[in-house]
Amino acid sequence: MRTLYVRIIMTTMFIMVASTMVAFIVTNVYYNNFLKQENDEKITETAYHIADMHEYNTGQSIRAYLDAIAKMGYNLHMVGEDGSAQTFGEPFSSEKLDPSVVPSVIAGETFHGIAEYPWKPFITGFFDNTLANTIGVPIEVDGETKALFVRPYVNQHFGEMRMFLAILLILTLFFSFLIVLISTRYIVKPILHLTDATKKIAAGNYHLELNVNRKDEIGRLARDFRKMSRSLEQTEEKRQEFVSSVSHEIQSPLTSIQGFSQALREEEIPAEEQQRYLSIIEKESRRLSVLSNQLLTLSFLDSETDADQFVSLDLEKQIKEVISATEWQWREKNLSISYEETGGDVRVHADPKLLYQVWMNVLTNAIKYTPNDGEIRIEVADKVREVEVRIADTGVGITDEDLTQLFERFYRGDKARTRSDHSTGLGLSITKKIIELHDGVIMVTSEVGVGSTFTITLPKT
Ligand code: ADP
Repeated sequence: MRTLYVRIIMTTMFIMVASTMVAFIVTNVYYNNFLKQENDEKITETAYHIADMHEYNTGQSIRAYLDAIAKMGYNLHMVGEDGSAQTFGEPFSSEKLDPSVVPSVIAGETFHGIAEYPWKPFITGFFDNTLANTIGVPIEVDGETKALFVRPYVNQHFGEMRMFLAILLILTLFFSFLIVLISTRYIVKPILHLTDATKKIAAGNYHLELNVNRKDEIGRLARDFRKMSRSLEQTEEKRQEFVSSVSHEIQSPLTSIQGFSQALREEEIPAEEQQRYLSIIEKESRRLSVLSNQLLTLSFLDSETDADQFVSLDLEKQIKEVISATEWQWREKNLSISYEETGGDVRVHADPKLLYQVWMNVLTNAIKYTPNDGEIRIEVADKVREVEVRIADTGVGITDEDLTQLFERFYRGDKARTRSDHSTGLGLSITKKIIELHDGVIMVTSEVGVGSTFTITLPKT
């Protein structure tokens, strides 16, 4: 299984191996371009010293002399004009040499084998113990000029150092690997916790124990995750509350319909009483129908996010339509309605059907909660960027406590009174949703016994 843990470890190992290789190549390039030349110069100087010292030190045989030099950490190779060759110190791994080299050194030239040594990507020429990787200088031996090839015996010079570097490299790799192995657990563990948490949320358990004290991205993720689970929990609570309110709202008219229809069937009831029972049944079923319509509108509004149905709408024309449509209601209560047109062309970008419901809800509420002979005033204020519609009544007013919950679903002010009015408590929550869908705002001010004013602000087209 390709777990995150395995993935991180494999990636780190790959990075470690790759970077070691790159570092090796870069070092090699550096040696070839800069150090090789310097090394060559240094060894050339030493080679000349070796040759010169023999010329001054005539008492000692060349063999003994070169053996002594070899013991000091050099590999030497001497070739005479006749081709006779002798090696001192460690044997070379290869004695291949261009045939022109020996004659040219005997003729007095210096052979810069180290500087000219070919570049190899993975093995630093520095360590190659070959005859081609030497410095060749002429040397006088018993009146004859020979070619002397010199290179330091790197193993002797750097043997311990090489071991030291190798151990250092191996231990660095080993400990890095060990630390990655341990630290990856530390990185992966909180992610595993979060995965467990998602499973719990999916199973409906929102009470999570997450470490949110970390300051890094994982800590932030855990905090956001906890926030998300809380909001999911609230949504779930609201949903349950909503379902229980809906069933409650449906249950009470149904009980009343069942009770009255049963009474009509089973009891001897005077004709007048029968009529009363029937009208109650009719009212309750109408209430159910309104409720189901409003619930449909709410669910539509909950899912609706695009502005497909929006058109440029003549606002004042629509308000006048709503006033005419409710005429029989306000005339029945002998209410006076005042509405003054602005005289301009006030247009908003809106869904006509939805906005119609807004005016309908607010105006029918004003009619419903205003006693007979009262007054309703509708004003439209055409502003630069927005339009403000105020619907004020001289009705019963709303208490401060009710004002805070007015737009919540199923909220009804005076429960006993409004229930008999067949209100559902959904009207204003629908109104608010529609206004928000139009990027508008709805506000209420009210005074008990004096009246209420609903102010709706919408952006203009
Ligand atoms: P409904 O009118 O169906 O009960 P609404 O959501 O439209 O539901 O209204 C919620 C509550 O707000 C009402 O029950 C009522 O108490 C109060 N209310 C709304 N409009 C007015 C108003 N113009 N005057 C007084 N109270 C109001």
